[in-house]
Amino acid sequence: MTKSLYGAKEASGIWIYLEQSQGQLEGVSLELVGKARELADGRGIPIVGVLLGDQVGDLAQEAIAAGADEVRVADDPLLRQYTTDGYARVVTEIILEGKPDILLLGATPDGRDLAGRIAVRLRTGLTADCTDLKLEEKSGLLIGEVWGFGGGVIAYIKCPDNRPQMATVRAGVFAVPKPDAARKGKVVNVPVKLSEKDIKVQVLEHVVGGGVDITRAEVLVAAGRGCQGDFTLVNELASLLDGEVGWSRVPVDEGWVSRDGMIGQTGYTTRPKLAIVCGISGAFQFTVGVEKAETIVAINIDAEAPIFEAADYCIVDDMFNVLPPLIEAVKKARGGNGGR
Ligand SMILES: Cc1cc2nc3c(=O)[nH]c(=O)nc-3n(C[C@H](O)[C@H](O)[C@H](O)COP(=O)(O)OP(=O)(O)OC[C@H]3O[C@@H](n4cnc5c(N)ncnc54)[C@H](O)[C@@H]3O)c2cc1C
Repeated sequence: MTKSLYGAKEASGIWIYLEQSQGQLEGVSLELVGKARELADGRGIPIVGVLLGDQVGDLAQEAIAAGADEVRVADDPLLRQYTTDGYARVVTEIILEGKPDILLLGATPDGRDLAGRIAVRLRTGLTADCTDLKLEEKSGLLIGEVWGFGGGVIAYIKCPDNRPQMATVRAGVFAVPKPDAARKGKVVNVPVKLSEKDIKVQVLEHVVGGGVDITRAEVLVAAGRGCQGDFTLVNELASLLDGEVGWSRVPVDEGWVSRDGMIGQTGYTTRPKLAIVCGISGAFQFTVGVEKAETIVAINIDAEAPIFEAADYCIVDDMFNVLPPLIEAVKKARGGNGGR
């Protein structure tokens, strides 16, 4: 591999790209700050956030409360919207100035786009779409866990020579840390050397999707092929429990729903307190997206369905028999009207 623009000897710290959209930090960025804190503790490694945008300085404290020691803020009207060329240029400059050992980004659409571009510019390696991170015991090298070949292989990938060691990580893999508002950190404003001609892409309109973020749901009711496209009871139960609705890939492939709430290897990773999984077989590619739930209740007509291996409570029955009395019981417990 080509030599990176700086080497391991000059590099230090775990840096996180703090992705924001419309003045709000992405949950995955805070998850990464929390994970970095966990990796760094006891090793004396500083955690530094990199924040870009227009009038976004206030968000720095959020990252500090989550565990960052320092946040470098590039604030400029030209950074109001994400653009590959503008953001890649500014982040690359900040990285070359600070020389982090590790650089983590969320595997969001923008994070994936930015990470690839920066890795090429810095001539370093990028482990994309990680489902876990750790530091190698002796060397302290970053090890990224990646699932491959439809879940048949788990690869542990490291980048021993080039710096920074880069990884994108899927949302929901790590928990969002509890904020500590009293935590103190340093905020460094970085001068932005960017002009309009550096940005070839012009954002004409910013359209925000209407879908909910199931990675943050505390209660999730999920359905698969077993619902036969009828989500009425699943929606009702989720609503009664103040939860969200998710699904396996089959409902997407069948055209019953969009990809917005798809759980699994190529969908979202969730970590609700309670997941009620209805009419889903529990193929590995689905289960990886829900196995971090505190409690899993599975409803399936097939007693041999693999989902029962991951479930805490197993109900072998037709979901259309189980859900109506369950809904009635929840209504009763909530005082007769569902109480939302
Ligand atoms: C590379 C790759 C990536 C993939 N990524 C994903 C992913 O991210 N997410 C994902 O979900 N899948 C993914 N898949 C597909 C995955 O392998 C499974 O095919 C899919 O999860 C199956 O969905 P399902 O359980 O809804 O359907 P099925 O496997 O058909 O299972 C339906 C289940 O419903 C039960 N059932 C039927 N009727 C009822 C009823 N009335 N009441 C109760 N139970 C009933 C059946 O017993 C059965 O267990 C991926 C596959 C590949 C190869």
